Amino acid sequence: MVPGVRLVVLGKQGAGKGTQCVRLSHHYVVPHVSTGDMLRGEVKSRTPLGLRARSAMDRGELLPDDLIMEMVGRRVTEGDTRARGFILDGCPRTIAQAKELERLLDPDPLDLVIDLEVPTPQVLKRLASRRVCVDCGSNYSVPSPPLTNWTCDVCGGEVIQREDDTEEAISRRLDLYERQTAPLIEWYTKRGVLVKINGSGSPDVVTRRSVKAIEERRGGRGAGEPVAGEGATASQPGLGVMPVAEQAGETPPPTPPPAGPWTGS
Ligand code: AMP
Repeated sequence: MVPGVRLVVLGKQGAGKGTQCVRLSHHYVVPHVSTGDMLRGEVKSRTPLGLRARSAMDRGELLPDDLIMEMVGRRVTEGDTRARGFILDGCPRTIAQAKELERLLDPDPLDLVIDLEVPTPQVLKRLASRRVCVDCGSNYSVPSPPLTNWTCDVCGGEVIQREDDTEEAISRRLDLYERQTAPLIEWYTKRGVLVKINGSGSPDVVTRRSVKAIEERRGGRGAGEPVAGEGATASQPGLGVMPVAEQAGETPPPTPPPAGPWTGS
């Protein structure tokens, strides 16, 4: 049986967090909990939270900590996340959120916090060409579009450019990241749970680096050895265990993992 994991993934917007989180959630068979996706779902359903969140999100500003942590608190204390863990994407973004997360998870701390490092010019280039599915949140890009006419390969939804991926909102979000989220790196480093992962390279290579770091942290197998369940299908419908390559080196496996049912929650 593949062990679960409790993981936070940090990184600038466009560092590939979303893509890596989906892959890691398939690999460890745990939900991908993305605060951005959750909020976009609220906006789409026009809930009171969504109506409140929309303008701040369009401007690229952070929402209040208490509002975010109430939403996250509900999700990380549900049965599935309590039992096997989660890949937390987009939260915490402030020290206050990190402290509240620590309190919510007590007595089971995070296994690891991954900081995906990608140089800013590379991130800007990625964001300008990023496209997402409005329904399931799957990520595409101009050089790597869906198979047919900007229709999502996973769910058939429309694939568009995010409203907050404008040049102005992007630079505000990167600025906010530096000011508010980067201090988290220091905070988690002091707690001894942070590992920096080079986020440049193909998605497969970055996933392999991440799995290796997680397994090393647990004192178990690295990505240089076979992974439990490799090539197998997980017991939950629609979830595959992502094969991890034999080497921690730079040869990517050919098939990308499918997006799973937890991608957008
Ligand atoms: P993301 O998809 O993670 O880039 O999030 C999109 C937007 O949702 C952000 O620009 C914020 O407006 C809001 N948001 C997502 N997560 C958080 C968070 N942890 N704290 C505050 N605002 C958030």
